[in-house]
Amino acid sequence: MKTSEFFKQKTVLSLEVFPPKRTAPVDTIYKTLDELKGMTPDFISVTYGAGGSENSRATLEIASSIKHRYGIESVAHIPCLHLTKEDAAEILLQLKAHQIENILALRGDRIPDREPAGDFKYAADLVGFIRDHGDFNIIGACYPEGHQESGGLVRDIHNLKHKVDAGVSQLITQLFFDNGYFYRFRERLDLAGIRVPVEAGIMPVVNKKQIERMVSLCGVRLPKKFTSMMERYGDNPVAMRDAGIAYAVDQIVDLAAHGVDGIHLYTMNNPYIANKIHEAVFRLMAS
Ligand code: FAD
Repeated sequence: MKTSEFFKQKTVLSLEVFPPKRTAPVDTIYKTLDELKGMTPDFISVTYGAGGSENSRATLEIASSIKHRYGIESVAHIPCLHLTKEDAAEILLQLKAHQIENILALRGDRIPDREPAGDFKYAADLVGFIRDHGDFNIIGACYPEGHQESGGLVRDIHNLKHKVDAGVSQLITQLFFDNGYFYRFRERLDLAGIRVPVEAGIMPVVNKKQIERMVSLCGVRLPKKFTSMMERYGDNPVAMRDAGIAYAVDQIVDLAAHGVDGIHLYTMNNPYIANKIHEAVFRLMAS
């Protein structure tokens, strides 16, 4: 089923998982998925390391298991910067063979010391390519605080409009910790004529290192409420975990009350945290 259909029925709840590290067998993900099984997400998306076509195998295998073994709709992420058109066509054939209908089409991040393949410059190029090679539901990424390389939110939204017009039917945001950015972003999308459903990406932060990495990677801003929490509980892992879960739940309740189209939970492959959040909010999603 195309995941864009879910938005017609309810507030969508989706999860994101990533393939195990190269040093671990791909099977270790199934323990995580087994423990997420009590949850009722509308779909689960599977990330893809930006390196190139060789990374697609684990993503494909996991996305296929989510759909066929767990009976949950799945989404395969595909970053295109390091793919040739032949690589992309081959991945699409594989997805079709596994009946995976949903793709998060991404540019991917640049890899130091490695030249892009040159066939796709932006995610919008991949969106057009996918649209011309099959009947897939295409999802795009977006950035409530602006993408770091965009030169500003206005320009970023202009580029986003181009990406959506190329064939995107739903959007998922990068994580954010201040819902105000999301609400202002939504208004700007509306002004720009971007009318597809937008899921809010929520990441429960459960340790100090994780947030330091996220801030340097994505450039998200941290509100006072969040930094006070880190200062108070950052050195106490259990208290920090509980506070991080409570913060994410608080964000989701506020977003649901403001009529968000959906919540995309970055699970970090941590079923304990995902289950706690699900328990607290799933009735809000159903209403
Ligand atoms: P694009 O939409 O191509 O945008 C990239 C930049 O180019 C933006 O600054 C945009 O404003 C600008 N731009 C776009 N079009 C034009 C144009 N025509 N002219 C000039 N500038 C332009 N990365 C992975 O490697 N693997 C993953 O699995 C993965 N999953 C993700 C999931 C989500 C929900 C999100 C939000 C991000 C994910 N990423 C992943 C990270 C993503 O690949 C990076 O953020 C990347 O830097 C941008 O990807 P994009 O698809 O948003 O790019």
